[in-house]
Amino acid sequence: MDFRFTEEEEKFREEVRSFLKEQFTARAERDGGMAFYMSFNRKLVEKGWTAVHWPKEYGGQGWPIMRQVIFNEEMAYHRAPRTDFMGMNIAGPAIIAYGTPEQKEFHLPPIVRQETFWCQGFTEPGAGSDLASLQTRAAEDGDDFIINGQKTYTTMAHFAQWCILLARTDPHATKHRGISCFLVDMKTPGITVRPLIDMVGMHTLNEVFLDDVKVPKTALLGDKNMAWYQAAGRSLESERSAIGNSASERRLVEDLVHYIKDVKGSDGLSANHMLRQRMAEMAIEIEIGRMLSYRVAWLQSKGLPLDYMPSMVKLYHSELSQRLVNAGIQVLGLYGPLERGSKWVQLRGRLARNYLVTVANTFGGGTSEIQRLIVATKGLGLPREPALDPLITLGWEDNLSLAKRGTLPHLVLRPYIKGHDMVSVFDALFRHLSLAPGGIP
Ligand SMILES: Cc1cc2nc3c(=O)[nH]c(=O)nc-3n(C[C@H](O)[C@H](O)[C@H](O)COP(=O)(O)OP(=O)(O)OC[C@H]3O[C@@H](n4cnc5c(N)ncnc54)[C@H](O)[C@@H]3O)c2cc1C
Repeated sequence: MDFRFTEEEEKFREEVRSFLKEQFTARAERDGGMAFYMSFNRKLVEKGWTAVHWPKEYGGQGWPIMRQVIFNEEMAYHRAPRTDFMGMNIAGPAIIAYGTPEQKEFHLPPIVRQETFWCQGFTEPGAGSDLASLQTRAAEDGDDFIINGQKTYTTMAHFAQWCILLARTDPHATKHRGISCFLVDMKTPGITVRPLIDMVGMHTLNEVFLDDVKVPKTALLGDKNMAWYQAAGRSLESERSAIGNSASERRLVEDLVHYIKDVKGSDGLSANHMLRQRMAEMAIEIEIGRMLSYRVAWLQSKGLPLDYMPSMVKLYHSELSQRLVNAGIQVLGLYGPLERGSKWVQLRGRLARNYLVTVANTFGGGTSEIQRLIVATKGLGLPREPALDPLITLGWEDNLSLAKRGTLPHLVLRPYIKGHDMVSVFDALFRHLSLAPGGIP
């Protein structure tokens, strides 16, 4: 096994590194903000370093996988803001794979030039992990589709011009079959975007309401009713194969080690046995994460199936990111929770912020439980679990008929998990008991 990069690859890494060092001066980092993000993006566009993973014919660089790995690692290590993630990694690849020539010509060049930004309208209040239960409806009307429904957790919908959206086009088909994918202009009348402020106090997430939104039939991406097997599957795969996390994790450990070495005198940290153990443990975990990521890259470079590997990598890095900030907060002690702006803040308040931000890592893009299910079935060959929750997959009426027959598995736990309030949990339990043979005991 030889994990070294070739001479040419190392030269390329040096080129990327020196470009990023020039951009990320202390001052640029300090001033930060949207203006810096936009100007940095423009420089990436000028260099042709945006859609580096796309084929050349669509304005990408067509770089081999290892070059992309190096590029992503350096970007992550230097904490470079990610360019339009949804356009580059979700909408773009789906359009390349399933778009008509007109859709490709219209949508792809502006994504490469970073002139349009995208959001992903998949999740709904009742359809997250079980995405195929989505209820947003697109009904044919002459040359158009009329879309009605609601999306949630739609990242950057308030900023995006376009949305790659899933809607049900055949309500009578089995749930995975009747779904289609649409490329929707966010300015279309009938779309309302409402902010969801997260616990960091940031506005990146939104609810999107669709009331009689008329989109032309040319907005359909791929075959009608087949989105589950085409665009949706493709975008979720891209979303879960992110590489480069280990580079940003490594950078954080380096920062913490510098901090530990810097604190001298009676508070000296470098002799603290517990912190040394914790840092060593983190360094080992990061190295394991790096190897897992390289394995995905290697499989991709050989054109081999990725199977459960993206799930394993997503799961590992998202959980590691939480362990890592936890360790970081321990290193900083009472300084840990201080935010940027405080006189005593350390490491620019990064730990306090990431402590909150990383919470979402284990459910955004698919929860840890779902990744474990994928590893268990695809990786270990365990049989699929029986349908988990009739209350969710069948709907209330069907559940009542199940209750009459006395079978309602997971009745109490699952609605609670799905975010129903306790009143509806007890209501469900009450109905179950009163309808079950024998009635309320
Ligand atoms: C920061 C962030 C950004 C996001 N951005 C977008 C976006 O831009 N566009 C978009 O469409 N979506 C987005 N999402 C939504 C994301 O994909 C969903 O949150 C995710 O799929 C989980 O769905 P849910 O929140 O409905 O949870 P649920 O599916 O309701 O799950 C609730 C709990 O039940 C568990 N669970 C569910 N099913 C099973 C099962 N079969 N076995 C065991 N446990 C189970 C889950 O693991 C979880 O713990 C984003 C989410 C976050 C947090």
